Amino acid sequence: MNIEKLISKGALFIINHSAGKDSQAMTIYLKAIVPAEQLVVIHSHLPEVEWEGTIEHIENTIGSLEFHIVQAKKTFFEMVEHRQKFPDANNRQCTSDLKRGPIEKKIRALSKLKKRMLIINCMGIRSEESPGRAKKKQFTYNWRQSKAGRKWYTWYPIFNIKIQEVWDIIAMAGQQPHWAYSEGMTRLSCCFCILASQADLRIAARCNPVLYKRIAELERKLDFAFIMPKRGSPKRLLEEITGIAA
Ligand code: SF4
Repeated sequence: MNIEKLISKGALFIINHSAGKDSQAMTIYLKAIVPAEQLVVIHSHLPEVEWEGTIEHIENTIGSLEFHIVQAKKTFFEMVEHRQKFPDANNRQCTSDLKRGPIEKKIRALSKLKKRMLIINCMGIRSEESPGRAKKKQFTYNWRQSKAGRKWYTWYPIFNIKIQEVWDIIAMAGQQPHWAYSEGMTRLSCCFCILASQADLRIAARCNPVLYKRIAELERKLDFAFIMPKRGSPKRLLEEITGIAA
């Protein structure tokens, strides 16, 4: 993979931006190497479940880059009510249907509109985040989206960057991360993530009591745990995990 060659061929680089630290560091990095007219930022907005200030944070940290907000037809809660269960690590409809789908649709439209047939879809995934992520390839061809003369690649530009470097990139750019990190969150996207740690869930519960109550009530109504128990472990509802009454 030769990024300079892709730039000279007029590739359109799409920045998938969640407002999290990795998206923020990736944007700073890409702005330094890719001409601004070949960069587009897209955020998939999840109403009701995102951290407050998510969109404002992106707007405040991307400078003058072209920015689009997309949204799935269904909300997170509508999806859960429809399926009568929460998504989990093996069935991440929240990611595929509420994020990836709407973003890919927007990319296809932008490719057509801008007559850019070479797409580099960039995500802030890092290898050290999990053993599963470490196994991923940093640069791959997307066969499903490459059609009708369009070539589409997926690239993880900060794949080999360590967490301290992420914070350093943000600080050296004179930026601040989203405010939820100063509350102690280690990851940021939805306030309550189906994959979150106990510590992050506790912080999210403290910062978002109304949303916490809504999810806790939904767990009881559906008789389904928001966090999938580890194999062989009993089901635990959010209040049991966090120790915080909703
Ligand atoms: S942040 Fe978590 S809950 Fe939200 S879409 Fe991603 S995986 Fe699903």
